[in-house]
Amino acid sequence: MSNKVIYLDNNATTAVAPEVFQAMVPYFCEKYGNPSSIHRFGGSVAADIEKARCQVAELLGATYRDKDGNATEIVFTSCGTESDNAAINAALAALPERKKIVTTAVEHPAVLHYCEELSHRGYTVELIGVDSCGKLDMAALKNAVDSNTAVVSAMWGNNETGTIFPVAEISEIAHAAGAYFHTDAVQAAGKVAIDVNAAGVDFLSISGHKLHSPKGVGALYIRRGIRFTPLIFGGHQERGRRGGTENVASVIALGKACEIAGKCLDEEYRTLKKMRDDFEAKLLASIPRIRINGDLENRLPGTSSVSFECIEGESILMLLDVFGICASSGSACTTGSLEPSHVLRAMGVPYSAAHGTIRFSLSRYNTPEELDFVAEKLPPIIARLREISPYWEENK
Ligand code: PLP
Repeated sequence: MSNKVIYLDNNATTAVAPEVFQAMVPYFCEKYGNPSSIHRFGGSVAADIEKARCQVAELLGATYRDKDGNATEIVFTSCGTESDNAAINAALAALPERKKIVTTAVEHPAVLHYCEELSHRGYTVELIGVDSCGKLDMAALKNAVDSNTAVVSAMWGNNETGTIFPVAEISEIAHAAGAYFHTDAVQAAGKVAIDVNAAGVDFLSISGHKLHSPKGVGALYIRRGIRFTPLIFGGHQERGRRGGTENVASVIALGKACEIAGKCLDEEYRTLKKMRDDFEAKLLASIPRIRINGDLENRLPGTSSVSFECIEGESILMLLDVFGICASSGSACTTGSLEPSHVLRAMGVPYSAAHGTIRFSLSRYNTPEELDFVAEKLPPIIARLREISPYWEENK
């Protein structure tokens, strides 16, 4: 057993960046005032929250500022899931006569399971499929979006394969029918450039723990002018759009993380992509019968979904774990279930390959040496598992 950890599960969650952690520290024992309080002690915290709001807005290209310079299009939430739910809920409330939601078959459960719940409350939900590379069926999308559609929800980048959807085109289709467009950018934010105005986004979700800030904080971009009905009612926090005392330290952290992500976006994109591409090239050269899943031309830079035919992903994970290598067999939320992930099924990945799929997801803290180590350990692991696999025997 190795004591060293090689963490390649950054789409599940990331380490809090040291600079981000430092930025949080004062808000526990020194600046612990309630941002809603009238006194100066709370007021200064409220001002810091507004600064964090601007930092988030900047990463997303949300340029609007109110007369006080505040980025009021950003609302802080508790996580990406809440942001997704709140966006869809608000779109439905803003267009109450429309009863249809159009989304994709490969969304995160934060969207899919909420839509499923809404289907029990009288809404029609249409799921748009993808091709074998994970590309969205745009013709089917065009057909599905109509005058009864309140919202189209399509993710920016897929958490399992990294496939990037053409959000600007999707938003045009939604808007042409008078529907709102929501995008789940939880995996994309901080990894690829986002410009909510250029993409024509009405709602956009992000989550702190995917970009080196803590778990339990997220944000929702809401285009100015949209009538917003909250998901959570309570106090007047977040300009009446999200009740509940702010998770101040985490909000400050999310702001700082967005600032850092914005500054190193281009360089980080290049380094992650190179590490990922070199890693995949090594695997393809050394292991027979594997496939890389996703749109290889248009993927998030640090995500690699690899199918190893005729073996179980869980067994691979267990043997990687012996060397301290952490990866995932699909999305974090489906780990534990032996069904191949809904994303791979939607892509039509054959069962024999889908079952043996591992997602490696990188961050700025990984090194080429770590990936070389993993690429060296994998071929004997795969060979050993295939030796004892009845499927391999049958399908050789
Ligand atoms: N959306 C996507 C694409 C995700 O990958 C995740 C988390 O894995 C979420 C939403 C949910 O975010 P959170 O864990 O902050 O609720």
